[in-house]
Amino acid sequence: MRLLGKYLCAIAISACTVSAGHTAPLLEPTLHLTPQAGSGRVALTLDACGGQTDTRILSALVDNRIPATIFVTGIWLKRNEAAIEIMRAHPDLFELENHGGRHIPAVDTPRKIYGIRSAGSPDAVLAEVESGAAALARTGEPAPKWFRGATAEYSPSAIAMIRKLGFKIAGFSINGDGGSLLGAKETARRIAAAKDGDVIIAHINQPTHAAGEGVVQGLLSLKQKGLTFVRLDEADGVGNDGTTD
Ligand SMILES: [Zn+2]
Repeated sequence: MRLLGKYLCAIAISACTVSAGHTAPLLEPTLHLTPQAGSGRVALTLDACGGQTDTRILSALVDNRIPATIFVTGIWLKRNEAAIEIMRAHPDLFELENHGGRHIPAVDTPRKIYGIRSAGSPDAVLAEVESGAAALARTGEPAPKWFRGATAEYSPSAIAMIRKLGFKIAGFSINGDGGSLLGAKETARRIAAAKDGDVIIAHINQPTHAAGEGVVQGLLSLKQKGLTFVRLDEADGVGNDGTTD
């Protein structure tokens, strides 16, 4: 009986070790703006993961003077010179921040998130964050202060590492376009529901997706309601899971 007990214990320990390696919960941190009396402020953050530029969104931002924080990858920067030119021509509207060098999730254990393979080790997370910053530096942009990893999910130890590198980590409070996969109507509804202090995430790199049309509609209705758009570099953002403090 004692032997059997030991045996079960050994199984339990090894099962526990295995499951800790594969199912340690990932964090999807939130971010809010610190409340300011009497104002309705929202932050629009748009990811440029790879691919191209949704000019419906870019034109709407310029035409309606809506400021945005754009999270760009090294991959996107290489392929979208015309869009970058437009953003740089409007430094009052666009802030470019770090979305990684190769759009690899900042998770330091091997796993897949939404079908994307994670960085898988601390060194690979470091390379993703630093190569994203280096790509931005090569375009002559100011050094990034914020990082958002691909899929916006992180292991707790990766968060600590990225903070040590000096970046704040950009969560969000409204998932505007469901990874650019939602329809126009639902995307518009989600974005239009933003309230004071919300940080919206959506995508600016999927010109063929219906969601982009919804992003524009949602933003215009927020503007019509009188909300003010701020960028992350001009507002205090407060995140959970140790992402900003
Ligand atoms: Zn992305």
